[in-house]
Amino acid sequence: MRLIDRIGTFFGRLKITAIISGAVVKNGRFLQQPILAATCECGTEGEYRYDSLMRGGTTSCGCYNMECIKERFYKHGHAGPPPTPIYKTWKNMLQHHGDNVCAYWKKDFVNFLNDIGDKPENTHLNRINRKLGYNKLNCEWRQNG
Ligand SMILES: [Zn+2]
Repeated sequence: MRLIDRIGTFFGRLKITAIISGAVVKNGRFLQQPILAATCECGTEGEYRYDSLMRGGTTSCGCYNMECIKERFYKHGHAGPPPTPIYKTWKNMLQHHGDNVCAYWKKDFVNFLNDIGDKPENTHLNRINRKLGYNKLNCEWRQNG
């Protein structure tokens, strides 16, 4: 397929709209890959190297990656809106006791959820030993009052 025939075709979300520059080849080696102009499904225009498109390394302007990150972050459904009680507890814990929270819990809400289980009604997060930090061994849901 000639480069010019790529115009109008799709690489993932990117539709090729023009050839910006062709390949520069010297002694059978690519000195410069062709550069193509493309418009993403989301409307963003950009310029992309032909080889990274062909390898499948570039399939959107970057919006696809952003959506994946968001999806991974929110797929547990606890972040809301509105956030669930355990999610609010996690946020509060980080906000007020960030330094004392174990790295594993800081890293991901899901780690916290898996370790401690969903929050029963009328409970609060309690540190068993107040001198120790927030981690799996030292925390429990305790009945209010
Ligand atoms: Zn896009």
